Amino acid sequence: MDRSTTVKSPSSSVGDYLKAIWELSEEGTTEGAASTNDVAERLSFSAASVSNMFGRLREMGLAEHEPYRGATLTEEGRAEALRLLRRHRLIETFLLECLGYSWEEVHEEAESMEHSVTDAFTERLAAFLGHPAQDPHGDPIPSADGTLEADDSFPLAEATPGQRVRVYRVGDEEPARLAYLEELGLTPGRLLEVKEVRALDGVVVVEDEAADVRSIGGPLAGSVFVHSASEGGS
Ligand SMILES: [Zn+2]
Repeated sequence: MDRSTTVKSPSSSVGDYLKAIWELSEEGTTEGAASTNDVAERLSFSAASVSNMFGRLREMGLAEHEPYRGATLTEEGRAEALRLLRRHRLIETFLLECLGYSWEEVHEEAESMEHSVTDAFTERLAAFLGHPAQDPHGDPIPSADGTLEADDSFPLAEATPGQRVRVYRVGDEEPARLAYLEELGLTPGRLLEVKEVRALDGVVVVEDEAADVRSIGGPLAGSVFVHSASEGGS
């Protein structure tokens, strides 16, 4: 059997690795590095193929790899990852705002489209959308020169009772969970007042602007990222 027919084209594969390494190192599990196992799990590839690709990325000057520590992106690798993230997040915004896609549908479509559009298309798209700062999930969109706004949001699970917070982004792209978050009204930009954070089971009780009170389970409250909202705002 010809195995080459089942693997993705090299360019899209390299890009997926760069994004995975970037995301994992941002999540900070291994101090700026992404381990072979974490990347394998994220991309559903075997650890052996991830090791091979780490070697290839090193040859291409896109990543460095130290045994037992994992892969880190070089400056060039990071720039490439941010270029793909910019495309991905602009495409998601476009699909949602202009083509009637739902919040939970846009990620998969953007995953496949980001490899087939040009930088020129991406910049036309950015202009068309009015240069948005965040995608539909609230993730900041890297600028064309590769800078990314610092993200100082924190999980809703770490908020304190009485605190007013604004949803900044949701750290989950799993469609069923996104649909549920939307149902609960936990989309970027929403203002919430934290009523209770239960130590026992991590459940967070919030009240929204329409005075609807909702209980959010611990795992879900850990994937909704918020900013503290200033007193007296709206
Ligand atoms: Zn996405």
